[in-house]
Amino acid sequence: MIQDIDFYRPGSLEELLTFLKDHGSNVKIIAGGTDIVPGLRQKASRFSHVKTLADIQHLHELKTIEISDGHLSIGSCATFSQIEANALIRKHFPLLSCAAGLIGSTQIRNRATIAGNVVNNAPCADSVPPLLVYDAIVCVRSHREDYTVPLNELLLKPYQTRLNADEVLTGFRLPVLADGYRGEFYKLGRRRGVSISRISLAVLMQLQGGSIQDFRVASGAITPVSVRLSGIEEYARDRKAGSELFAQLAQQLGNEIIKITGMRWSTPYKLPVVQQMFYQILMKLNDESVTG
Ligand SMILES: Cc1cc2nc3c(=O)[nH]c(=O)nc-3n(C[C@H](O)[C@H](O)[C@H](O)COP(=O)(O)OP(=O)(O)OC[C@H]3O[C@@H](n4cnc5c(N)ncnc54)[C@H](O)[C@@H]3O)c2cc1C
Repeated sequence: MIQDIDFYRPGSLEELLTFLKDHGSNVKIIAGGTDIVPGLRQKASRFSHVKTLADIQHLHELKTIEISDGHLSIGSCATFSQIEANALIRKHFPLLSCAAGLIGSTQIRNRATIAGNVVNNAPCADSVPPLLVYDAIVCVRSHREDYTVPLNELLLKPYQTRLNADEVLTGFRLPVLADGYRGEFYKLGRRRGVSISRISLAVLMQLQGGSIQDFRVASGAITPVSVRLSGIEEYARDRKAGSELFAQLAQQLGNEIIKITGMRWSTPYKLPVVQQMFYQILMKLNDESVTG
């Protein structure tokens, strides 16, 4: 049973901002509802204060996906089905389109939104590692102000972000990459379909003449909140790509994860898997760059 909750359907984003100003902390935005509805059913403490749900999924102004000024803009209410199918995202941000296609089932992807995934901020949120390696900027609006914030600064701890109760995440801006980047999104769950990530990684590498120009890696599910692993990124830059370096990077990845999480019951299982997958991804990306 879900507690009694009022339901509000704004006619526009402006109307929603005014409603949030007037009704404040007991209102929760609902987009696809695929996190919030199960959360309410399970009486999750993070939703226990909710008296009103403000539905935004019908607001078309929050669904657009377009490229301008060297940036891709994705509206907060874009669903993962929309993101997976979008030709601009497939071409310029393939890791995001791949992650979108691996989320839940068709029914979930038809409802689940990218903003809901980010604001819920579960450790296993699949869109977050790709967004982090693509340096996503988050666009936020309230009745007080509009501002942007790098995604890594928005994510606080599991199931918590820096967003205030009267703020709406309106979308994301992703800078289009220069040439020469290759990357991969890797997800490991307990089964192939409709599976929550136990381990996920997003890796981006820019190679030139056999050496690494830029290197980006973000963790998912293996750390409490998805993070960019900046120590490894800095170490890799300007070094010669190859199996020797990749083995060192895989070793460092293990060390960084233990530094963040400490030793857990799952560490002896997860760590060798994540190190081996990371190494194999790097070898594959390097081979692809050689064979063109
Ligand atoms: C069966 C099942 C399978 C799933 N599989 C996966 C999976 O494989 N990978 C994965 O990552 N997730 C998975 N999920 C989780 C879920 O589908 C995603 O996290 C989804 O993207 C959440 O989006 P939503 O629109 O449904 O969010 P909602 O449930 O509507 O909202 C989630 C949170 O975000 C807030 N919010 C939403 N939009 C905004 C906004 N614009 N501004 C401010 N706050 C906002 C809400 O207030 C709420 O706190 C699964 C869920 C189910 C039920």
